[in-house]
Amino acid sequence: MKVAFLGLGNMGLPMALNLIKAGHQVHGFDLVQSQLDAFKAGGGIPVQSATEAAKDADVIISMLPASRHVEALYLGDAGLLATANPKALLIDCSTISPKVSQAVAAAAKIKGFAMIDAPVSGGTAGAQAGTLTFMVGGDASALECARPLLEKMGKNIFHAGASGSGQTVKVCNNMLLGIQMLGTSEALRLGIANGMDPKVLSDIMSKSSGRNWALELYNPCPGVMESAPSSKGYAGGFGVDLMLKDLGLATENAGDLEASVPLGELSRKLYEAHSKAGNGQLDFSSVFNLKAD
Ligand code: NAD
Repeated sequence: MKVAFLGLGNMGLPMALNLIKAGHQVHGFDLVQSQLDAFKAGGGIPVQSATEAAKDADVIISMLPASRHVEALYLGDAGLLATANPKALLIDCSTISPKVSQAVAAAAKIKGFAMIDAPVSGGTAGAQAGTLTFMVGGDASALECARPLLEKMGKNIFHAGASGSGQTVKVCNNMLLGIQMLGTSEALRLGIANGMDPKVLSDIMSKSSGRNWALELYNPCPGVMESAPSSKGYAGGFGVDLMLKDLGLATENAGDLEASVPLGELSRKLYEAHSKAGNGQLDFSSVFNLKAD
């Protein structure tokens, strides 16, 4: 299967490399040259535009930062819906607004493309290990066509429902994750202020009712977990600005539906303050260092 992979960042690069390892020919494009170089070093075929990557592809996968990047890639006169072969299956793995995801999929359908939204969970470690969780929205038949590829990049593949519902699940999940990371940081800080060793505190809470993913697998306190971004200067991982974007998606979506998300709102404000203090590019667990008023 010939694959076009668009967006070779923290997540896209290791996902594309897993497809190459599984024997697929992958043409890739990213705006950043160093990402293209790393892709080439891993056996990928780097090209100079999305249109060139998509030419002759059986499957086009996008892994871009936000809604506007996805709209720009697919829509408009120069977008892939106008230039690619409608036989290609479109898989958007970016985390974007459910509304935008539905609109792009509807435009794709009009042009004769099958398209699914397939945002992921599992972080950069999951992307490298090929153990991501995929939350898929769209027709079941399109998911079945995509499944052999998704299985090379992930371990759990869920059909959430109609187009856009993969994004809805992802937005709910990340709102919860953002809240959990703040709560975990606050609890660890309180323990440390009491003179506790954060590792002892984390070990005990991980076996108690406060246990959660941020505490157990992505501990925000430096030195507790060697493999976590917190122990590597909060480099790589999942950026503060990406979490801020996802909390923005959650609160916007809640506003559209008049759903109440007070903790989501508060979390968005706290990550915003952290980003404004110059931390937008750090991993989101760096919110451990936020000094809120
Ligand atoms: P990233 O910023 O590291 O990578 C995005 C890449 O897209 C960049 O390399 C950028 O140069 C490239 N890009 C932007 N516009 C492009 C275009 N028009 N054509 C080609 N390339 C383009 O972000 P990431 O961490 O890889 O995240 C990607 C998506 O996955 C986001 O929507 C994010 O919310 C989501 N996500 C991230 C994580 C994580 O842990 N990092 C986990 C789950 C989901």
